[in-house]
Amino acid sequence: MSRITTQVDAAVGMAVEIMRHSRVAVVLTGAGLSTASGIPDFRSQGTGLWARDEPLEVASLSTFREHPERFFRWFQPLAGQIFAARPNAAHLALAALEQAMIIRTIITQNVDMLHQKAGSQNVIEMHGTLATLTCTECFHKTDSAECLPDYLSSGRAPTCRRCGGTLKPDVILFGEQLPATPWQQAQAACRACDLMLVAGSSLEVLPVARLPMLALDRGAHVIIINQAPTYLNVRADVAIMGDVASVIPAIAEQVLHG
Ligand code: ZN
Repeated sequence: MSRITTQVDAAVGMAVEIMRHSRVAVVLTGAGLSTASGIPDFRSQGTGLWARDEPLEVASLSTFREHPERFFRWFQPLAGQIFAARPNAAHLALAALEQAMIIRTIITQNVDMLHQKAGSQNVIEMHGTLATLTCTECFHKTDSAECLPDYLSSGRAPTCRRCGGTLKPDVILFGEQLPATPWQQAQAACRACDLMLVAGSSLEVLPVARLPMLALDRGAHVIIINQAPTYLNVRADVAIMGDVASVIPAIAEQVLHG
């Protein structure tokens, strides 16, 4: 067995011990959780899909307000990938831990609905969801499923069935404020937990990246599983730099059946 494998095994063992003793665990997930489901992380440079345009510009609130058709054209290939994506082993393991009442809340930075597809119930979506769109004129809500086939084939901006106005996906674009309710719910969950598991997030996007500090300040344990180091690795009880889709199922298996 290689030294790295031994180190990861030891770290998984420590994570299992902490989780077994936890009563209220909260998970914070980011883009790294969905890459194993084929959804590219647009902060990882050079992936073809994101390379054509600058996401910070084209997926910003100001671009959307002025040129929604540009946003929708850019988003078309990614939307196809996201709506076809299936939850991976990490999503399923987190859902099983929630079912076992070990995980109480999943806070996610993802908008891809994969936690819900995996069966998770208590999901706080910090950056919104692609499941619905809201009319920018009359605020009528539309399920994505209604306009998806036409949009995926044409790339045209979907319009409101009631008033013809432009529909905006219910996701937080760059330059857009986080909605107050999920933010307050996430803060409350972090203050009340005794274990914070960070999974597939590099903790680079504020203000969500600050949430684990709330848990730490209340004396909660922190476990971080991410390919790249985060600013909090030095303060974590366990930090595993590895693939969430193999590490989280390994932890769940031992916690649930070990
Ligand atoms: Zn409308």
